[in-house]
Amino acid sequence: MTTHREPLSSVLDTIGRTPLVAVHAAPEEVPVYAKLESFNPGASVKDRIGKYMLERMLEAGTLRPGGTVIEPTAGNTGIGIAVAAGRLGLDAVFVVPERFSVEKQQLMRALGAEVINTPTEDGMGGAIDRAHELAEELDDAVVPQQFSNPLNTEAHYATTGPEVYEALDGEVGAVVAGCGTAGTLMGVARYGRERHPDTHVVAVEPEGSLYATVLGRDVEEEEYKTEGIGTHDPATNELFEPDLVDEVVQVSDRRTHAEVQRLAREEGQLVASSAAANSVAAREVARRIRDGAIDAPHDTVVTVFPDSSERYLSKGIYGSFDEWEG
Ligand code: PMP
Repeated sequence: MTTHREPLSSVLDTIGRTPLVAVHAAPEEVPVYAKLESFNPGASVKDRIGKYMLERMLEAGTLRPGGTVIEPTAGNTGIGIAVAAGRLGLDAVFVVPERFSVEKQQLMRALGAEVINTPTEDGMGGAIDRAHELAEELDDAVVPQQFSNPLNTEAHYATTGPEVYEALDGEVGAVVAGCGTAGTLMGVARYGRERHPDTHVVAVEPEGSLYATVLGRDVEEEEYKTEGIGTHDPATNELFEPDLVDEVVQVSDRRTHAEVQRLAREEGQLVASSAAANSVAAREVARRIRDGAIDAPHDTVVTVFPDSSERYLSKGIYGSFDEWEG
C-alpha cells in the first residue's frame, strides 16, 4: 500500500496501491476497512480506470496513437482519463451535465482536456448521447463509455480487488460499495466471489436512486444530493450484474451528510459524500454480521472512499444540511 519508495518516471506509476484504513466507528468484533482512493494522482478511484481502459484500448488497437478520447462523465472519470490521456499522447474531450462540481471541471481543463456541458435535466443519458454525436463528427475519436465498457469492471478486478485481498490476507467477509457505473463494486465483488463464493456483496445508493429496482424492490425515485453514486435510469448502468449483488442498501442524504462531517471530526478523514454513504452502509453491514443476521465467510467488511471532500467545498459539504448543494 502506497509502497512507492523509489523514484518513478510517470504519475501513471503512482495509480493504485492506495492505503486500506480502519473505520473506527465500526463494531469491535467486525472491523470495517476503507480503501482511500484520494491517494491517486487525480485524487479519485477513477484514475484506475482512466489508465487501465486507455492502455488496454491502445494495445487492442481500438484507440489509435494520437487519437481523441470522448467521455460522458460526472467529473472524476474525466480527471482520471485526462491524467492518463496526456501521458499516453491522446486528446481528451469530456461531456459533463451542468450540475456536477466546478472543481472537477476546472481540473479536467487544467490537465489539457476540453469540457462540454449538457443540461442538468437531460441527465447522464443526455451526456452519453452528446458524446457519441461528437465522436461521429471527429476522425480517430473513441468513446470508452465507462457505463458499458467491461474494461471498467476489469480495472478493479485487476487492481482494487487483489490489493484489498492481499492487505487482509484474503479474510474479507463483505464488500460494500456505492454504484455509479458499478465498475468498482463489480470488479472487487467478482474477485472476492472467486476467492469465496459466499462473500456478501452490497451495493450502496442514495435514497431516491433506482438500483434497488434491479433487484426487484419497489423504491421511490427522488432527487438526491450525494454525488457520484446512484442512478435514475438503471438501463444505462450496463455493468451492474444483479447476480453478483446480495442486496442494495439505500442511505439518505441526511445520514450521508452527517457522516461526512463525523468522518472528518472523529476520524480525520476528509472524504466526500459517496465515501460517507459507503461508510454508513459498511458499518450497518458489520453490525448485521456481528448480530448473526448476515452469514459472511469472515468477520471483516471492506469498502471504498472514492474521493476527497476538498473537491466539494464550493458546494457547502461542511455547511448545514440545507446549505449543502449536493
Ligand atoms: N464516488 C464518486 C465520487 C464517483 O465519482 C464515482 C464514479 N461515478 C463513484 C463513487 C462510483 O464508482 P463506480 O462508477 O465505479 O460505481
